[in-house]
Amino acid sequence: MNYFFTVFLVLVFLFLLNFILPHLVKLYWKKRNLKLMESSGKIFLTFDDGPDETCTAEILNTLKEYNIKATFFVVGERAERNSSLIERMIKEGHAIGLHGNKHVHPWKSNPWKAMDDLREGQKALQNLGVRANYLRPPYGKINFFSLMYVLYNRFIFVHWNTDLHDYKETVPENLKNKLDKEVTAGKVVLLHDGRVQGAKPNKVTSEGLRLFLQNMKTDKSLFATIAAVL
Ligand SMILES: [Zn+2]
Repeated sequence: MNYFFTVFLVLVFLFLLNFILPHLVKLYWKKRNLKLMESSGKIFLTFDDGPDETCTAEILNTLKEYNIKATFFVVGERAERNSSLIERMIKEGHAIGLHGNKHVHPWKSNPWKAMDDLREGQKALQNLGVRANYLRPPYGKINFFSLMYVLYNRFIFVHWNTDLHDYKETVPENLKNKLDKEVTAGKVVLLHDGRVQGAKPNKVTSEGLRLFLQNMKTDKSLFATIAAVL
């Protein structure tokens, strides 16, 4: 066989193994778990990329005021820096899932780095006394190595069906309007209490959420953590 053709076949095989196979498994998990959450008729507020000392604290204050439970997919190194917020999440009945340690993109880094990132994030949470059963990988993506890690540790993969792009908003009222329109039974809502690449979250997410809950027409009893279903 021609040398170049052999190299080509090997590269295709590696591409399928690292990107396509994990992606197909992810799509299966995503569909299966979203179906369970959608059919429950509950509403799941989820927050990624924190905890942040200001933004997460404000969100927790608002959730407490309206007695609403949510799910936080935390970044390990930020959890270590803000351990009191992790304690508070647990004490106030929220669920905690893993979102990596440094928020490494599984498709844009060395493949094993994504696995290391999950492992380090899990270790950071374990050091804080949290055994996370739920996983939302950074950018919602997995590669072959992270797939193996997820399978080995039996993480439950959690995606979303409503992305409000809160990190792009600059006006809290705009986010409030989106929440008014989109938050209905069966929704798994993606919000962010932190930002990637070292940026500080602005007040849009916490303020928009507060405005939404203040004027909420939705039945409060519909809000639940993912632990209620998965
Ligand atoms: Zn993220």
